[in-house]
Amino acid sequence: MASSTPITLSGLHRAALLESIGEEEYDLIILGGGITGAGIALDAAARGLNTILLEKSDFAAGTSSRSTKLIHGGLRYLKQLEINLVMETGRERAIAHRIAPYLVHPQPLILPIYKDGSLGPRAISLALYVYDRLAGVPKDEKRKMLDTPQTLSTEPLLSHRDLLGSGLYYEYLTDDARLTMEVLKTAANHGARSFNYITAEQFIYRQNAINGVIARDTVSGKMYKIMGRAIINATGPWVDLLRKTDNNLKRKHIQLTKGVHIVVPYSLLPLKQAAYFEVFSDGRMVFAIPRDGITYLGTTDTPYEGELEEPGITPDDVDYLLAAAARVFPTHPIQRAQIISSWSGLRPLIHQERKSPSELSRKDEIILSPSGLLSIAGGKLTNYRKMAERVVNMAIKKHGLKSRILQSHTDKIPLAGSSAPFDIPYWTNLGIDKDLILSLYHRYGYPTATILAQAMKNGSPSPENIFSAELRYTIENEMVINASDFLVRRTGRLYFYPDQYRHYQTRVIEQMKEIFHWDDVTTQKQIMELKTLADISLPQWMRER
Ligand code: FAD
Repeated sequence: MASSTPITLSGLHRAALLESIGEEEYDLIILGGGITGAGIALDAAARGLNTILLEKSDFAAGTSSRSTKLIHGGLRYLKQLEINLVMETGRERAIAHRIAPYLVHPQPLILPIYKDGSLGPRAISLALYVYDRLAGVPKDEKRKMLDTPQTLSTEPLLSHRDLLGSGLYYEYLTDDARLTMEVLKTAANHGARSFNYITAEQFIYRQNAINGVIARDTVSGKMYKIMGRAIINATGPWVDLLRKTDNNLKRKHIQLTKGVHIVVPYSLLPLKQAAYFEVFSDGRMVFAIPRDGITYLGTTDTPYEGELEEPGITPDDVDYLLAAAARVFPTHPIQRAQIISSWSGLRPLIHQERKSPSELSRKDEIILSPSGLLSIAGGKLTNYRKMAERVVNMAIKKHGLKSRILQSHTDKIPLAGSSAPFDIPYWTNLGIDKDLILSLYHRYGYPTATILAQAMKNGSPSPENIFSAELRYTIENEMVINASDFLVRRTGRLYFYPDQYRHYQTRVIEQMKEIFHWDDVTTQKQIMELKTLADISLPQWMRER
């Protein structure tokens, strides 16, 4: 069966592919392989620009694997009167669902209304009505206002005390790291080259105009000189570090805020319905989302100034979320020691004087430095496509790039996994568990067929063979070169299926050792990395009763 992505994203060919990266001058060099950089790569490549993307860690290892995983219209931005942002994110939700239906799913959310909440039923009803209008919500997904009995039958775990009713409305649920990968694969199909584990360390200038990057392969230690007509800094929380390297940190700067999520087994918080509820202590809103046998809660929003790689989670972060949940779901209080995983991410927001973290605008901004470096920050997972369009337009204009197609048209490009149909009944008729098929399909779309066919070739479509085939597929098509790439970003096992993460570790290491010919030192390093990541996700203090 044909593979879906060109060889340019093969982890097996990565070293060979890197050999030629310095041989040509690119139209566009993109720094950062989160959703912002991935979106830019697709937009640019689809317009015919010769594009390369460099990511210092794994794709989506920064904020783009640590969000709430919602493609959402930003209901709460209504409160801040960010009307344009609500309209744009509202439209983008629909586009994301259309171009990647396997990965972006409609998700009803219940918004309970309590007597001591900051908004009453009328205000919520009006806000949701305005939201429906601004976001262009389709008819069958428009808001419904529920009275108290209807609310409790929709979500029986909600606290009855002082409950006045609820609003039921729709957002879209996705997997952020997978979305990033699917966008990168689609960009590869349009000719973009993307590499993980390549750090941009310095810039090259000709008469003070930026025209290249000196980058280091953190796998081999090799240095590369890569020349480009335009360079876009899409490094999220790291944006200002590269602006500093470019010697231009004037005017605007980034303000980081930290957000954490905690995960519990579904049985501990068995919600029928995802919820979006107010934290009474500070008026912030928090999500509780059931999916795949777990329920996750988040997020916090606090100022952050520490190290960027792993912002970590503190007892205060956890207690804030547990207290908020206990108030709304009082029959199911959760103890710290019952948490099974967590993640923590940084929002790269544009600093605004005298604003609290939650009040800072989520709007994106492009900063053009005197050298010509374009930096983009702020924004959301949800509006990655429009951010890409804006910055590519600017790169074309400011740097005189000649694109074959003038306008952005990524709204019409199905993401890689939906470029062919996938026949679920064909595979269930072969006796493969439907849930297993669906879990693959929701990650990869139609290449699920490639994975299942490979498992059959290996003997039978047993879960173990399917697992091995999945790993093989991601190595060959998604530039997996470390065990954590697969277990954390490509499949989310660390966060959503921590039992599987532990269960399959040895198997992943053994299979990859054989494929990549790892020596003992490398193998040991891989094992240690998996352990470190598990400890960050579930620190010792969280496990103690
Ligand atoms: P990143 O994903 O951080 O990517 C930047 C990349 O640049 C990193 O991978 C980094 O390794 C790389 N890099 C850094 N330096 C270099 C270098 N020198 N050379 C090469 N590469 C480099 N948005 C939504 O729409 N919906 C949500 O539900 C949502 N929830 C959120 C919840 C939380 C807690 C947080 C923190 C954010 C949330 N967001 C959400 C916002 C969204 O996640 C971010 O806007 C988005 O992921 C930012 O992506 P990015 O590509 O700009 O940054």
